Amino acid sequence: MTSVSAEHLSGKDRPPVLVSSDKRGIRHELRPKLQQITTSETFNACGRPISGVNGVTIVNGPKGSGFGGLRSCGKGWICPCCAGKVGAHRADEISQVVAHQLGTGSVAMVTMTMRHTAGQRLHDLWTGLSAAWKAATNGRRWRTEREMYGCDGYVRAVEITHGKNGWHVHVHALLMFSGDVSENILESFSDAMFDRWTSKLVSLGFAAPLRNSGGLDVRKIGGEADQVLAAYLTKIASGVGMEVGSGDGKSGRHGNRAPWEIAVDAVGGDPQALELWREFEFGSMGRRAIAWSRGLRARAGLGAELTDAQIVEQEESAPVMVAIIPARSWMMIRTCAPYVFGEILGLVEAGATWENLRDHLHYRLPAADVRPPIISVRK
Ligand SMILES: [Zn+2]
Repeated sequence: MTSVSAEHLSGKDRPPVLVSSDKRGIRHELRPKLQQITTSETFNACGRPISGVNGVTIVNGPKGSGFGGLRSCGKGWICPCCAGKVGAHRADEISQVVAHQLGTGSVAMVTMTMRHTAGQRLHDLWTGLSAAWKAATNGRRWRTEREMYGCDGYVRAVEITHGKNGWHVHVHALLMFSGDVSENILESFSDAMFDRWTSKLVSLGFAAPLRNSGGLDVRKIGGEADQVLAAYLTKIASGVGMEVGSGDGKSGRHGNRAPWEIAVDAVGGDPQALELWREFEFGSMGRRAIAWSRGLRARAGLGAELTDAQIVEQEESAPVMVAIIPARSWMMIRTCAPYVFGEILGLVEAGATWENLRDHLHYRLPAADVRPPIISVRK
């Protein structure tokens, strides 16, 4: 067999950057690698043991297995692990609101995009998008039409991709109607939103988006279109509107990459991807992934909205401690074999005992250690 260095292989022939094949494994494997290139100190602390003495607990509960005793950053845009938790929580809330709305009324999904060219900064585009959405969902006409057409409000998500024309920043929103909204009403309602969206973008110096070439898309949800909703929710659940790719960084559609795909390419040593990831880290700082119109959550019986940091701090109910990984061993796995984290979680869910975990870990990393649980944590 001839050995070929990674640089000489191109495209899909290149060995994968990540070993894990499932999303959870990818998140845990990607986090320490991304931390090597991050400029965020908060993110850099995520996934490190809180106590050097107590180590990291491996727990199993009704919602699956997990790790305890770790710092978390709550940076849903740039931390793959926190993105998973935040995304799952938000997707759950959105499906509750949609189910509630479909019980008595109807729901439509509207997508609005902006025109962009390569070289425009993500930060500027995102700021423009936020202002345009605000313009689309404010003002007298918006309030009058909401009243007239029975729109109970919206939940909106921001999605970002990058392709040959640079950063593509767009909004998906679910519009809630108290009755069965007709196609005509939906069209005129969304057209008016799009007019305000366009005017704002133009006033800020952006090119006017094209109504019929992808600038605006609106569709009713329910019945056959349920699949659209399912796809939308899955997208959010997979990481605040972003999909972790297959792990080889090459799953982008039509050359458009989602931020996680850029992240995988960046940790794989692609200098352009590294530059883009850094820009994404900066551009996403302080941005909300999901926003609710006032009163919508309460109407559907949801409590106050939690911040990303609060969501990741939430304790799982009645977890059972399966084993403990000493802090030193944990750090060793992070550095040398982070794909093992996903393997451990899978083994625990398949019923592995602490001895099974110890044997597996010794096989992967002979110097790393697993210890028996000290107490069973039950609330
Ligand atoms: Zn984190």
